[in-house]
Amino acid sequence: MLHNDKLEQWDRDNFFHPSTHLAEFARGNLPNRVIKGGSGCHIEDRDGNRMLDAFAGLYCVNVGYGRPEIAEAIAEQARELAYYHSYVGHGTEASITLAKMVLDRAPDHMSKVYFGLSGSDANETNIKLIWYYNNILGRPQKKKIISRWRGYHGSGLMTGSLTGLELFHKNFDLPLTQVLHTEAPYYFRRDNLDQTESEFVAYCVAELEAMITREGADTIAAFVGEPLLGTGGIVPPPAGYWPAIQAVLDQHDILLVADEVVTGFGRLGSMFGSDHYGMRPDLITIAKGLTSAYAPLSGSIVSEKMWAVLEQGTDENGPIGHGWTYSAHPIGAAAGVANLELIDKLGLIENARNVGAYLNAEMHAALADHSHVGDVRGEGMICAVEFVADKKNRTFYNASEKIGPKIAAKLLEQNKVIARAMPQGDILGFAPPFCLTRDDVDQIVSATRQAIKGIL
Ligand code: PLP
Repeated sequence: MLHNDKLEQWDRDNFFHPSTHLAEFARGNLPNRVIKGGSGCHIEDRDGNRMLDAFAGLYCVNVGYGRPEIAEAIAEQARELAYYHSYVGHGTEASITLAKMVLDRAPDHMSKVYFGLSGSDANETNIKLIWYYNNILGRPQKKKIISRWRGYHGSGLMTGSLTGLELFHKNFDLPLTQVLHTEAPYYFRRDNLDQTESEFVAYCVAELEAMITREGADTIAAFVGEPLLGTGGIVPPPAGYWPAIQAVLDQHDILLVADEVVTGFGRLGSMFGSDHYGMRPDLITIAKGLTSAYAPLSGSIVSEKMWAVLEQGTDENGPIGHGWTYSAHPIGAAAGVANLELIDKLGLIENARNVGAYLNAEMHAALADHSHVGDVRGEGMICAVEFVADKKNRTFYNASEKIGPKIAAKLLEQNKVIARAMPQGDILGFAPPFCLTRDDVDQIVSATRQAIKGIL
């Protein structure tokens, strides 16, 4: 669209980039990356460099780039009706159809879906619904929310508080006081190296129980967690973790929010991570994979149990006081319908499962023995390589060494493969589009091995 030799300067002069070292960018020490096109698993910048995007944008372009079916659905919706709101019973064919498609795919005990725009706002909605629920049930003191260290749930005021990463708290006066953080189910980083996996699960459960006892179960409303920790390090839970946590929550009448922004719609090789790991959530957060990021759209899927109380609340108090102008935006909804149809038509979840298993196996075979690779882990179409300073004693790099960013930069410069240096600094993440092929896997794995060679 814009072929302008001033673009780089305009970018530095005008554009506030999220999650960016602002001063380094302004000084020109971070490159401008102007992305112009994409097709399948590849994107192209304005200089014509073609890159294999092994992180699907921000693990969201699940069907791959350049899908005409979705582009046409968006264009058709924009021509017919770009916008109408969804307040007071209004809807569009696209939003109503998408709600039906989401519920058809969700666990059986879910009842309705509220559509928002981003994973962050969907989690904000969830917390409001939880507080409303407990107020209607006459227990206004049951409001605290437990999330985990290393969890990622967004970067708003409440969602940034739920996020258990220091970068998202520091200097923003977060977390808010209603939020408590408990142990992350991160076996590789356990403090006690003598613990077996099941002992570690028992320890996580004991930590949670101790927190509930300390605070009082009657003050705790909900537990929020990603089925598999994503941004905090791509960490699948140890076996038995979720059923054990679920049992504690049920015992204390604490709601469970499964944040499936990354895992929803196939990333783990099954429709939802909740099914995959045996969770029984009261709310499910969805975003990224709902539209494969062709348009912004998110959702909060509400269980039958919560829905009954929300209805009761409106009988007692009138219409629910929650809604965005862009809730269920028709263009996002049209993108969502076309996206979910495409996933079914092309069998992309099956491909995520099969090619993802190959990705994880090959990455493991190529790197697990490396003297600075501590862990290779993943599930379905998501995989992480964690680097360690000393493998024998499991000592970690310190964040200022920026091992992950250095390897990711080399991978890109040398091999035109995009992986993500996870915020913690020493983890390289891979979460490619579901249309990835085995040849693509071979290229990613061999490029990663080469990039590591020059650095560690
Ligand atoms: N929840 C999870 C699990 C996420 O990974 C993310 C974003 O990466 C979010 C919530 C926030 O979504 P958004 O960036 O769309 O606000």
